Amino acid sequence: MESINELAEALWTGKQTTYDLHPFDPPHGIVKIAPDTWFIKGFSNSVIRETNDGLIIVDPSAFMDVEIKFKTVREVTQQRLNTAIFTHGHVDHVFGVSSYTDEAGANNWALPHVIAQENILPRFKRYCDTVNWNKIINERQFFGGEEGVNFPDKYDPPDQLYRESLDIEVGGVKVVIRHSRGETDDHTWVFFPDTRVLCTGDLFIWAVPNAGNPQKVQRYAKDWADGLREMMKMEPKILAPGHGVLIIGHDRVKQALDDTATLLESIHDQTVALMNKGESLDTIIHTVKAPEELLKKPYLHPVYDEPEFIVRNIWRFYGGWYDGTPSHLMPAPEKEQAEEIAKMAGGADKLATRAEELATEGNYRLACHLLDWAICVEPENPEIRDAVRKIYTARAEMATSTMAKGLFRTAAKVTNHETL
Ligand SMILES: [Zn+2]
Repeated sequence: MESINELAEALWTGKQTTYDLHPFDPPHGIVKIAPDTWFIKGFSNSVIRETNDGLIIVDPSAFMDVEIKFKTVREVTQQRLNTAIFTHGHVDHVFGVSSYTDEAGANNWALPHVIAQENILPRFKRYCDTVNWNKIINERQFFGGEEGVNFPDKYDPPDQLYRESLDIEVGGVKVVIRHSRGETDDHTWVFFPDTRVLCTGDLFIWAVPNAGNPQKVQRYAKDWADGLREMMKMEPKILAPGHGVLIIGHDRVKQALDDTATLLESIHDQTVALMNKGESLDTIIHTVKAPEELLKKPYLHPVYDEPEFIVRNIWRFYGGWYDGTPSHLMPAPEKEQAEEIAKMAGGADKLATRAEELATEGNYRLACHLLDWAICVEPENPEIRDAVRKIYTARAEMATSTMAKGLFRTAAKVTNHETL
């Protein structure tokens, strides 16, 4: 499909931007990227490599597009699946092998072999232990709190696990498999030395790295940067990302990996320097700035995660949950705080009115504190509910990232405020 390559060029050169065309969005489809090698751009991406003894597939499918991914592969090759490699245990990357297993069973072929980093197993267990939690947080992240996700509760474990590195050969094709913590603790990147195709998994997604995610477990900003620099040493020529379009050409790939590593290193080093001075989380969040020139790069816009959230994740990695504000150590219930503040303000409605003024002046951050207190005190007050709806909707529209948009949209639904 030519349009995927055209889109890659348009995004790289700035004719199109990820602000309009999110890395997860269509066009989806398959494109040949090197001899015997195809790339499927979907919600999440897959790489398919023919060998003399069946296919190697990196990330066969997300849980929600198993059939279409299988059909798409079968449009270009009839080889059996020899080996699948999962770049990490997220549910948009570890499904789809079952289609090939069924096919192998029907044809009396050898069953496919699946490789992943060993931390994938405790991840799958965690997902099974917290299915409903994961449903809730993904509905907030992607659907603004509306019903829309059936988080999987069954995973097929890989039959081969590795820890740091693994080199394999399948049907005459050498494959370099390396672990780097980053978006997850089980992340793998894959390099094909003969074609110099690099499969980054979600260590590269055409956006500010998902190293901050407000609702999810620890990310690893520094290890992530180190992993990107290891990839650069392979001198890759084609970058097949976990989400978004291809990057084609040695110099472009090098630049994209280098810039992403530099962004993470900058946020990491600024945060750690302030932690070493004993600063509070509040000071650090409002002091650390991601380099503007990097956020302007076409592949580093904050369209999924936010630099500010990455700062919090780095704090969490090195620190505890105490944020340095003394009253937060053993706080009064938020409702009690809100009632006291509303009383001093002359009523919850006064807080909401002031919030609207602040929003009009453009100070949405402060306005939202007042609104949270107001609705906590009077959750049924129609004017306060209106103000919450209006101001959080405006914040969702102003936000650039999927995560901020999703959480602000959830807040705008008002009903959730009783449990804030
Ligand atoms: Zn993903």
